[in-house]
Amino acid sequence: MSAARARRRLVLDTMGAVSGKIEQLLAGQDVTLATLPLPQEAEPGETPLERLQRFRALLGACLGRLDRGEPLACGACGAPLPDAEADAMPWATRCRRCA
Ligand SMILES: [Zn+2]
Repeated sequence: MSAARARRRLVLDTMGAVSGKIEQLLAGQDVTLATLPLPQEAEPGETPLERLQRFRALLGACLGRLDRGEPLACGACGAPLPDAEADAMPWATRCRRCA
């Protein structure tokens, strides 16, 4: 599998996991976010549901970039994400140096 396809697969799998947790929350079940590779800190006052929805939107945006063949760049320094970082977490909004 190419690196791009592997990244796409990882994003889709993670979207599935996030969607499952959102469904559980909406069903009134207790959900742990500890098992998810959440890239962002919770914002002040943000509920777990809101945090998951924000993550799902981020994953969707990442998938769009992958589908369009656009580079994955750090939102802070603008440099392309190093391959190892993009392979591990294609939706990362910052490179490891800026994180
Ligand atoms: Zn950076």
